[in-house]
Amino acid sequence: MKHRLGLAVTAAVLALVLPTASAVADPRDDKSKVDDRVKELQQEFEGLDEDLARVIAERDEAQEKLPDAEAESKAADDALAEAIEKDQDMAARLTSAENAQKDLKSSIKSGTEEIGKHKTSAARIGRQAYQNSGITSDLAMLLQMAEGTSADGGIGRVDSAVRSQQRTIDKLSEQRALNKNNEERLSGVTEKISDLKDEAAEAVVAKEAAQVDAKKKADSLNDLISAKDDAEKTISDNKATTEKQLADEKAEQDRLAKKVREWEKEQEKKGNFTFGDGVLANPAKGYPITSPFGYRIHPITGAKKLHSGTDFGVPCGTPIHAAGDGVVVGAGWTGGYGNRVVVSHGKIKGDSIASTYNHNTKVKVHAGQKVKKGDVISISGTTGASTGCHLHFEIMKNGGYVNPMPYIS
Ligand SMILES: [Zn+2]
Repeated sequence: MKHRLGLAVTAAVLALVLPTASAVADPRDDKSKVDDRVKELQQEFEGLDEDLARVIAERDEAQEKLPDAEAESKAADDALAEAIEKDQDMAARLTSAENAQKDLKSSIKSGTEEIGKHKTSAARIGRQAYQNSGITSDLAMLLQMAEGTSADGGIGRVDSAVRSQQRTIDKLSEQRALNKNNEERLSGVTEKISDLKDEAAEAVVAKEAAQVDAKKKADSLNDLISAKDDAEKTISDNKATTEKQLADEKAEQDRLAKKVREWEKEQEKKGNFTFGDGVLANPAKGYPITSPFGYRIHPITGAKKLHSGTDFGVPCGTPIHAAGDGVVVGAGWTGGYGNRVVVSHGKIKGDSIASTYNHNTKVKVHAGQKVKKGDVISISGTTGASTGCHLHFEIMKNGGYVNPMPYIS
């Protein structure tokens, strides 16, 4: 019984001490997860500083882990409260059993004294009765009674003495039964105390393990909260600078678009503003789209931002081909776009369409040059506001940035 109980408690202690599956997650998994997110963020937001992207990824990671960490910390606190209660309960039960043991020992001691007294008293009554009656032995008394020769006084005295002796003997046997019962109870209580001491010791160990666990879970939670707060602060500290940078990029984008639009308007006035068959081809055929055209919320400014083209995962040094026949409107360095080539394809289905190729290592054409669909116009790279080799490809429709994919697929 004792042994089984110990094992059960040990199992409970182990369950407390052993970390849960989520707590043993390999930190390298977190690292690679953050690394992946950094890459993703930098693809999604070209030119986003790597350190800032990391801060955002770490903030998101902390945010994602918070609910579990909160739940784990709460569960550990609850387990600790339970362990403390169990510890206190065991201590109280042990004290109560020890008090019962003390009481029983004292009852047995006084019972033993009582038995001693009754024994002496019974013996004395017996002796006195015989002495007073003049009867010298039990046999003589019985003979006298049978013959009717015994003096009444003598028998009466013997009779009363026998009754008194009987009462003493009754008390004696009652006390003996009581003592026997108390001794059995004492043995039970003593065994129980031994079990309770084991259980109380286990409860102390469990409580201490629960304290360690609760502290660990609380520390993890606090670490996450600090990591998140620190990241939020860095993000907020960089908000104004990022807003300025994005506004500058947007202004540059608008300025470049306006320039192209002005050039197109001049050509439109001249008439016959068409080149080739008006069908465009993918300039980076076979390479994956790493970031599509469209609006997204910027992770630092929290504002909507247009990704003005389609990004293709083209390695640096790859020849880039003109999407269609046309005239080069611009070729060269433009800041955020790095080395950029703009090709006008003239009127396609009533709209003036131009394509742009950005972040090149090198441009292979010059403004005013006529190009054919598929001609190599540049060599891909990661110049300007770019954090990795790719082609940022744009389509401008009447001077506005539109989704390139319907034009090239
Ligand atoms: Zn892009």
